[in-house]
Parts: sequence; structure tokens; C-alpha cells
Amino acid sequence: MLFVVSGPSGCGKSTIIHHVMRDLRNVQFSVSYTTRPRRPSEQDGRDYHFVTKPEFERMIARRQFVEWAEVHGHYYGTSKKEIAQKAKAGDLVLDIDIQGARQIKSRPVRAVFVFVLPPMFDELKRRLKERGEDKPEVIGQRLMHAKKEIRHYVLFDYVVINNKLDRAVLELESIILGGRCRLDVRKPQIKEILKSFR
Ligand code: ADP
Ligand code: 5GP
Repeated sequence: MLFVVSGPSGCGKSTIIHHVMRDLRNVQFSVSYTTRPRRPSEQDGRDYHFVTKPEFERMIARRQFVEWAEVHGHYYGTSKKEIAQKAKAGDLVLDIDIQGARQIKSRPVRAVFVFVLPPMFDELKRRLKERGEDKPEVIGQRLMHAKKEIRHYVLFDYVVINNKLDRAVLELESIILGGRCRLDVRKPQIKEILKSFR
């Protein structure tokens, strides 16, 4: 099952996903392609596939993305290959923006949509500053963007409020585990159990 996680920059999406992947087995992270410069703490291939604008545009032309969007002045996209390879192994978490979430929603794929909110605007500002990986003007741009972005929470199935990190991690884990318990997802397992009752 796909889990699409969106929310304003700095609300804690990467941090929460990182913890969930440590706690739960069979959860993979979809590594996006981006033209944004790499942050000091990031690793190519682990956090993103960092590519040039022409490389990204070539991938668009070759229809290699399930979804892509321009966010904060840079391109970001999820490759079809990434989804095809990783979704086979279990649950797959996508950290993408609202435009990307909308594109996934319009496709015939089964996905659960999760929106992450910070407890309040000033805390979002504090987190972006404390992360210390974006220039002040970039932080300003992201905060402006956040004000518009959060209005779209109604598109989502679930909302995780990232006040205390442990709680937010538990909430996303509960959503994933809840997804795994769905009758349609459990059908193959149920069939096996029912066989033993014969
Ligand atoms: P995003 O992926 O949504 O842009 P990050 O995961 O990079 O956000 O988090 C932004 C900053 O906030 C990071 O420095 C992270 O350590 C911090 N952070 C995340 N969750 C919490 C939390 N619940 N309480 C305090 N700080 C947090
Ligand atoms: P950041 O630059 O902080 O890593 O990410 C900025 C925004 O781009 C976040 O909202 C993040 O969810 C989004 N993003 C990351 N990867 C993708 C992607 O593949 N597609 C889309 N549409 N958005 C993405």
C-alpha cells in the first residue's frame, strides 16, 4: 500500500518517517528526484536523487514520473521505477507536496493520504530556523508557502499533529498498521487461515 505523506516544510515529515522506518518492518521510503541543491546532512540516493534541471526535464519528457511538481522553485518527482520496485516489497511511504498528492489521487492506485501539521505556526518557524539548513530567505519563502499549503488538509484521509515527536511517530505507525489490517489487504492471509478451519 502507498502512504502519501504531505505537510508544510519543517513540520517534521522526514523525522517522523525516519523513526517509523526504524520501528516497522516492510516499510520503504520512496526516494524522489530533485533539482534542489543537496543540504549538508543529505546523501544522494538516500534522501533524494539529486539531478540537474536538464536531467529532470529529460525524465519528464520520457514520462518516467508518476508525479512531479515545482515546489519552492525546484523540481521534485517520484519515478515510476521507484514505485514499481519498492511497492512490491511491502508498504511504501512517499514524502511529497500537495500538488504531487493530488496527482497520485487522480490515478487508479490504492493510497492512504496523510497530512502532517505542526502544533502552531511559530513552532514551524522555530523548527525551520533550528534545522539550520536553509538560508533565511528560503525559510521565509517556505513559511509563506506553508500558509497556503495547510488550507488543503481536507484532501487527506488522516492528519498527524507533530507536537511531541513520539506521539506523531505512533500516529503514523498506527495509520500504516491500520492500513495493513484492512479486509481487502488481508484477503490472502485470511484465505490461508480459513483453509485451516476446513
Ligand atoms: P520536514 O521533513 O517536514 O521538512 P524535518 O523532519 O526536517 O521536516 O523537521 C524539521 C526540524 O524540526 C528538524 O530539525 C527536526 O529535528 C525538528 N523536529 C521534527 N519534529 C519535531 C518535534 N516533534 N519537536 C521538535 N522538533 C522537531
Ligand atoms: P524539501 O526541499 O524540504 O526536502 O522538500 C520540499 C517539498 O517538496 C516538501 O513539501 C516535500 O514533501 C516535497 N517533495 C519531496 N519530494 C517530492 C516529490 O517527489 N514530488 C513532489 N510533488 N513533492 C516532493
